[in-house]
Amino acid sequence: MAVAQTYKAYKPRPFLKEERSNVQILFGGLHWRAESLLQALLENLGYRAAPLPTASKADLLLGRELADVGQCCPTSFTTGNLANFLQSRAVQEGAEAVAANYVYLTAGACGACRFGQYHQSYELALRNIGHDSFRMFLLDQSEFDQGETAGGGLEINLPLTIGALWAILCGDVLQDIEYQTRPYETKPGETDAVVAESVSYLGEVFRKRPRRGKKWGALAWHLSTGYFTDALREVFRWFEAIEVDRLQPKPVVKLTGEFYLQTVEGDPNYNIHRWLESEGAEVYPAAVAVWFDYLIRVRAQKIEDYVGVDLSARPKLALLYAIQRIYRWAYSRLRGALGGIPRPLPEQAELRRLAAPYLHHRLQGGEGDMLIGKALWSHLNKKAHMVCELSPYACLPNTMSIGAMAAVLGRYPDLLYAPLEIKGDAEVHALSRCQMVLTEATRRAQAEFETALETSKLTIETARHRLDFRPKMKRATYRVPRHGWTGIGANLLSELARERVA
Ligand code: SF4
Repeated sequence: MAVAQTYKAYKPRPFLKEERSNVQILFGGLHWRAESLLQALLENLGYRAAPLPTASKADLLLGRELADVGQCCPTSFTTGNLANFLQSRAVQEGAEAVAANYVYLTAGACGACRFGQYHQSYELALRNIGHDSFRMFLLDQSEFDQGETAGGGLEINLPLTIGALWAILCGDVLQDIEYQTRPYETKPGETDAVVAESVSYLGEVFRKRPRRGKKWGALAWHLSTGYFTDALREVFRWFEAIEVDRLQPKPVVKLTGEFYLQTVEGDPNYNIHRWLESEGAEVYPAAVAVWFDYLIRVRAQKIEDYVGVDLSARPKLALLYAIQRIYRWAYSRLRGALGGIPRPLPEQAELRRLAAPYLHHRLQGGEGDMLIGKALWSHLNKKAHMVCELSPYACLPNTMSIGAMAAVLGRYPDLLYAPLEIKGDAEVHALSRCQMVLTEATRRAQAEFETALETSKLTIETARHRLDFRPKMKRATYRVPRHGWTGIGANLLSELARERVA
């Protein structure tokens, strides 16, 4: 006879303070620059920490095997990634040692999609491979001060969360300048070398971060210090050594999609960043910073509903908008330290306004209305020639966005949009689909470049001649002013036309 079982929510064994020096905190799910800086930040606070290796196809298969086979593919990738890592450690150290020596820290939320159940997939998978006593802790992405986890081994306080935020923002601005440099470098490999050196240097900066208070003092210090901007200025000097040739038409491809798939760089998204570059494109990567900006908006949207009903709603809204302005200012400051080359964050109010006719802003699963908003924002503001949306297999929020995009494309048929369903094991299908749209984007970039040549009354030879007399403009640190074109090559042509002949 079947015995009724009551549901019990996952509760990890305590992680004790005295275990900190022996236990390694595992985490993942971001791009490698941000992960490396987060590791340094955790070490700065006295923890041992390491990012998991980037998820692979083998992780996807194991994730599907061990947990719910119908789950969205990011859940399968991350579940299999953790399971494979623990199994490999267990072979070397033994299962008991793994349970004692590692814990996993992951972001959690209440949904509205699979995101609210990731830890349950992990729990199921770990039970299936005999690692039930392994400990996982959830970090609420919307709370800065969450106190100690059970046992006090991990304290999620302001020095940790603000430091983690700054680590991610620094990783983002570095990623953006990198992607604007590599496609144009004249010596292959130079950008990668500078970025590797920069991440290692910034890691040391985070490792040596001074302690400045346990509460609001830490926040005030991060906002006012020149510690991080000085470090980024040093990185900017290294970029100065990179010579670039921007006088070429390259299609700019804006990556959007589900948070995990647009952020990581590797098998989970078929290495789409590098693949696009190898196909001659300039990638406009998805900054994690946009997600945090969105979270502030989501909170404000909830409060908006109470305006006129609850007297405290207006002051709360005003406070949130002030926080949002400060947050965006802090990001701009970090961008400024890299010569203003990393792109500014799109205005959340604009994304919401653009998406409003197609998807309601209170539909909050996944990236919510941002996918529609970002696609239109990129197109209408000439930020990219094409939008490539990475949509996970079995993801409800993304399926809704793609449906809504049909109406967007009806109204804006010239928007080049490549929605790719990412299953993790259908690479050829996804990339060939992307290639079809990319071919048209390349043609548009070429046509735009030729029109810029015509309107600037230059030939490519005279443009090159002018460029040769302006070595500053051949440096990765030169910010090409925008003249209404999408591609950097066309904008550079217009700028050269304005310059007096030497
Ligand atoms: S947004 Fe989609 S892919 Fe991401 S966790 Fe939710 S359901 Fe899964």
